[in-house]
Amino acid sequence: MSPWVLRGLRDGVVTTRWPKRPDGYADTWRGPVVVTGPPPPGDDPAAVCPTGAISRGPGAEVAVDQGRCVLCGRCVRRFPDVFAFSAGIGAASLTRPGLVVPPLPGTERDLAAVRASLAERTAALRRSVHLRHVDAGSDGTEEQEIAALLNPVYDIHRLGIYFTASPRHADVLLVTGAGAYGMAEPLRRTYDGMPDPKIVIAVGTDAVSGGLLGDGTYATSGGVGSVLPVDVWLPGSPPPPFAILYALLLALGRLPSAPAGTGGGR
Ligand code: SF4
Repeated sequence: MSPWVLRGLRDGVVTTRWPKRPDGYADTWRGPVVVTGPPPPGDDPAAVCPTGAISRGPGAEVAVDQGRCVLCGRCVRRFPDVFAFSAGIGAASLTRPGLVVPPLPGTERDLAAVRASLAERTAALRRSVHLRHVDAGSDGTEEQEIAALLNPVYDIHRLGIYFTASPRHADVLLVTGAGAYGMAEPLRRTYDGMPDPKIVIAVGTDAVSGGLLGDGTYATSGGVGSVLPVDVWLPGSPPPPFAILYALLLALGRLPSAPAGTGGGR
């Protein structure tokens, strides 16, 4: 008997049952930084962040824009009482301001409106969904995580979600990369070629904000939001396959904890 057959028999079913059942592996993933305490007087935590993710409010309170966080850990090491990595896979948001922690005033109200309108748009996409992926200046890490969705652990097909090579057949556009100017036109043409209703997911901190390249360079536009209307913002450097699955189900209103049709999440 082939060693691969024996290995398969020994390992049994490795495919996750998430989202039908909780998955302890998903809960162990390191996510973007959260604020856990007030900054020490006299120190400026914003100075340690290479991407400008950390800001100070008028009352010296500190906030993190997770859409800019590349998970370098500098703030966590320098200020362990102020910052910590989040755990789990639920970093995606339906609005760009929704990625700021602690939440900005009015975030929940805005999210509710966006959630309701997205649920209306995507009602027809619940059970059979096709994805098109476009790399708009990625370093290749997000592509590895997206490719992993097809392996036996994640097996995205079990959720009725498939990849397609043609924009004409695509419902969801996954965009990675910092927004290379050279990819702006191909991105627009891909989006225009997709039938309605269509969803755009910015996958990874680079796609959300430009990441380490920041708001723009001679070659990049600081994320893909200036090129396309983004529906789901997924930070992470790179986001793991579980987080990409979460972002997809958030867009489709299929997260298990959510009331039917609301999309749940933030
Ligand atoms: S982990 Fe790095 S990128 Fe993220 S907030 Fe901290 S210093 Fe900034």
